[in-house]
Amino acid sequence: MKNFKTESKRILDLMINSIYTNKEIFLRELISNGSDAIDKLYYKSLSENIGLNRGDFEIKISADKENRILTISDNGIGMTAEELENNLGTIAKSGSLAFKNDNAKKEDIDIIGQFGVGFYSVFMIGEKVEVLSKAYGSTEANMWVSAGAEGYEVKPAKKETNGTEIRIYIKADTEDERYTEYLEYYKLRELIKRYSDYIRYPIKIENEVPAPDDSVDGEGKKIKTIKEWETINSMIPMWRKSKADLSDEDYNKFYKDMFYDFQDPFMHMHYQVEGLIDYKALIYIPKKCPEAYFSKYFERGLKLYSNGVLIMDKCRDLIPEYFGFIQGLVDCELSLNISRETVQQDRGLRKIASNIEKQIRKELQDMLENDRPRYEEFYNNFGLQLKVGIYNNWGMDKDKLQDLVMFYSAKQDKLITFKDYVAAMPEGQKYIYYATGSSLLSVKKMPQTEKILNSGYDVLCMTDNVDEFAIKYVAQYDGKEFKNVTDGNTGIESATEETLEEDKPVLEFIKTALEGEVFDVKLSKKLGTHPVCLSTEGEVSLEMEKVFKAMPKTDGAQDVRAKKILEINAEHKIYQKVKSLFETDKDAAKDIALVLLDEAKLIEGIEIEDMERFVSLVSKYIAE
Ligand code: ADP
Repeated sequence: MKNFKTESKRILDLMINSIYTNKEIFLRELISNGSDAIDKLYYKSLSENIGLNRGDFEIKISADKENRILTISDNGIGMTAEELENNLGTIAKSGSLAFKNDNAKKEDIDIIGQFGVGFYSVFMIGEKVEVLSKAYGSTEANMWVSAGAEGYEVKPAKKETNGTEIRIYIKADTEDERYTEYLEYYKLRELIKRYSDYIRYPIKIENEVPAPDDSVDGEGKKIKTIKEWETINSMIPMWRKSKADLSDEDYNKFYKDMFYDFQDPFMHMHYQVEGLIDYKALIYIPKKCPEAYFSKYFERGLKLYSNGVLIMDKCRDLIPEYFGFIQGLVDCELSLNISRETVQQDRGLRKIASNIEKQIRKELQDMLENDRPRYEEFYNNFGLQLKVGIYNNWGMDKDKLQDLVMFYSAKQDKLITFKDYVAAMPEGQKYIYYATGSSLLSVKKMPQTEKILNSGYDVLCMTDNVDEFAIKYVAQYDGKEFKNVTDGNTGIESATEETLEEDKPVLEFIKTALEGEVFDVKLSKKLGTHPVCLSTEGEVSLEMEKVFKAMPKTDGAQDVRAKKILEINAEHKIYQKVKSLFETDKDAAKDIALVLLDEAKLIEGIEIEDMERFVSLVSKYIAE
């Protein structure tokens, strides 16, 4: 007897004894394994011309109630002794114990399937399991036996045909659990229908059916029961059925089964394309973005089938990065000796991928134009992904995505597209204005935003870190350049031109007082009630400076700094005060200049380096 690897043993214990209360999924797991094993052989037969037909394959399930044995057999590729050892001796090759902690309570989530411990779910209902298997082309058969966490054994055995036969010795009933139901026809039938209806090979159950007993003559014809194999699953893959025969419910159920989501999808798209390239695609937008989406563990991709045989579970080339949250599958005719590696280079596939991408975009564009509330629901969940998509790859995909993104309008108080913005621009407006900050409220309250709004122009509010970086790649829309409201040259006023001779020495003085902190000091007349604000000159905006500052830096790298301009409200009392102090008390004038800069920083959400100084200066002048 051999022991399971340590981690395997712990997971096995956990699984058998606690975590997964949904015991019935064991059947789905075993049927899927059987179907995979048949796929493998079928695939081999097509590429190597072995001469097997699809119709030759089947998965059979029979129950021996008396001895409490449930048998599930397939005539797939089978396993050698070594494979039995490797495949069934180690659990959760892909997983780790972490799943226990994170998912123990979320029963809807198919943790078992996710972590590749599918086969072991059998121990939730079986006290002992025998796996009798004969690999295709081999003359020997072997049996793997285990009674759970204690360990397992592999020994030579007898089996006529290739494939795998799993014999489960069903546990005795307890007060809480009636294991006997897994030996009953109706329960088994229900489970197959529920979980395995689209398996493309017949799943047959042995059933007792009444039949006329011909051995008895005369009037009183007798009925006897005979055993008959009955195919339970409908087999036709859902995506091959006619759209007219499918309801939303069918699509949703399929999605949840296939992609292990517990929520209905946000929407589905079903394409059955015939033409130069024939393919069928079933595409789903989930309701919520997967939690791991932006982590390195996230794997995007669509399932790829060729003539109904699963070739690849996550074919990333079928879906662009910015639509990585999309789930689905593609079924097309690929030359069958195609390997996983050459799939990437396949021209037909590339064409299909590009078609699908266009179809998804068109669908979204239509929604945006015809059903704004629904599009907003989508956008609230996936807008960030689209914006990141614009930014990624040096803006390569911006043309595809720029009409799908929306930003909050400070003037209209709702999400609008660039197109909406431009359409509403008054005559003479040159730029598309935007403002960045950590929240909608702070962006709307910025003096610079108010300045633009007061001039009758709208401002797009940007609150995600990626926003301004994405905008830099978009650069212009419909011939209109984007302009950050904090840009020193917003085209609304020309502060320098308005500067009177008498103000020049004061501004020069303040600039010297703030040496190294600001690039320039100007007066502004559009600041309303705000005393000061910061604007910038050049490429780096204040928000970008913040984002750069927050990034981890390699040794010796310097912060990227924005060229800051301190704008002072010429009509504000505080400016008049600095002006008169400049004549009478230069030290005090310098103090106020320092406070003004810190105030401007505070409004922008920029850290004040010398908080102590700020507090003591403010206190000093209040107390005066
Ligand atoms: P997964 O199916 O997620 O890989 P399982 O624990 O269900 O994990 O199965 C482990 C492996 O055992 C499979 O990947 C497959 O190689 C092999 N296997 C399981 N069942 C069968 C079967 N009926 N026929 C052939 N191989 C099988």
